[in-house]
Amino acid sequence: MKPLLRHLRIGHRLVLCFSLILLLMIGGAWLAVSSSRTARQSLVQLVAVSNERQADIRMMRSLLERQDRVSQRLGLVNSIEDARSDMQTILDDIEAYRVVERRYANHVDSVLERSMVEQTERYDRALAAAFADAGASVAGYNPGMAARTFNREVAPIHAAWLHLLDDLAELQNQRVAAEIQALSAQANRNDLVIGAVALLASLLAAFAGWRLTLSITRPLKQAVLFASAVGSGQLDVPLPRSSDDECGMLLLALKAMARQLQEANARMQRLAIEDGLTGAFNRRHFDDVLFAEHERARRAAMRRNSEGVQDAAAHLALLLIDVDHFKAFNDQFGHPAGDACLRAVVGAVRDAGLRPGDFLARYGGEEFVVILPSCDIAGAAVVAERVRRQVESLHARPDETLPAPVSVSIGLAAMCDARDSRPADLLRAADLALYDAKHAGRNQVRERALECCSTAGAAVA
Ligand code: GH3
Ligand code: MG
Ligand code: MG
Repeated sequence: MKPLLRHLRIGHRLVLCFSLILLLMIGGAWLAVSSSRTARQSLVQLVAVSNERQADIRMMRSLLERQDRVSQRLGLVNSIEDARSDMQTILDDIEAYRVVERRYANHVDSVLERSMVEQTERYDRALAAAFADAGASVAGYNPGMAARTFNREVAPIHAAWLHLLDDLAELQNQRVAAEIQALSAQANRNDLVIGAVALLASLLAAFAGWRLTLSITRPLKQAVLFASAVGSGQLDVPLPRSSDDECGMLLLALKAMARQLQEANARMQRLAIEDGLTGAFNRRHFDDVLFAEHERARRAAMRRNSEGVQDAAAHLALLLIDVDHFKAFNDQFGHPAGDACLRAVVGAVRDAGLRPGDFLARYGGEEFVVILPSCDIAGAAVVAERVRRQVESLHARPDETLPAPVSVSIGLAAMCDARDSRPADLLRAADLALYDAKHAGRNQVRERALECCSTAGAAVA
């Protein structure tokens, strides 16, 4: 469920959550309405049935009472026709009673009620002989005898019978009261269930809303944190685990932006330290690197002094390379050819077997510098000679397009104890050595060691 939600768009999640809440509300309302309707229907049905049964009891009761009234009148009739009519009324009432009683008996639903109804049937059967006698007396023109029979045999049983019907009516009342009580208890239980369901539904809706809010705000917070990290310059901050929704897309877009910024930054940094024409490092960066290398060599010299061990890191050498007669080259072949020549010279210096820690920069115009860390004067002289030869051989290379041979003069300076000198001393010494090389006829290497080194002034080529 959770991973599925993570991949849904925020809008879809909102629709899902509100649909769930709506469903819960509709379900709760339906439960409340249907349970109250059921209770109402049960009550209406109960009242209707009870009314029918009470009406039946009243009918049976009135039929019995009429039989009693008519039977008393039998002894007072003036004519035999009246007696026969009264006797017929009594017999009709007996039949009518039986019809009502059968209808009532069809719906009895308790043992007690059943036994009471059976008792009324027994009363009916018990009076059959008395009614037959009374009928015979009337037929024999003796209604007075019939009245006496009724008085003697029927009236007492009718009294008990009426009493039984009263009990039956009371039983009906009790049953209705009990059923109303049961319905009321059921309604209370329903109210409790509805309350519990409503509470559960509210909790579920609140939980769904909470999860929905979290599923939106948590990735948003991550995106905000990520964006502020990128904004504060941490362009390589890792991308948090993202979902497929709008927040995930925002994170991906931010990451792409950070990557582009990172690349642009790298380009800018590179441009800030690089010479645009030749691709070598520029003068400003050279100043920084020379200072840093001089500082490193100075610390190595101090360490060497305190520990008494030889440490090559205390050495530092510098080559100042100047293209010979470059003005004439420019004048003869034009500046574009001159630019290409400068690029070819840089390539030749790089091909001269510099070590990974060595550093090449354009010093200005047609002059270049190479810093050789941890390199003594003898090693630097070997490198300088290799550079000179590499440039000299440029024109002869089949892949090279230089219009004329070029050469470089190289001034080499080296120090073996940086504690006694500054970077500017190394540069000045290299410049003097370059001056020596130019005066000696160009296309050669001259070296100058600072005072700390013993081979000062020796020429290599
Ligand atoms: P030398 O042998 O004494 O060094 O003579 P040179 O002609 O090389 O020295 P000079 O200082 O007289 O001339 C340097 C020339 O380098 C002058 C300038 O036009 C040229 N130059 C400097 N920067 C560039 C550049 O970026 N491109 C081109 N094509 N030429 C440049
Ligand atoms: Mg020059
Ligand atoms: Mg020159």
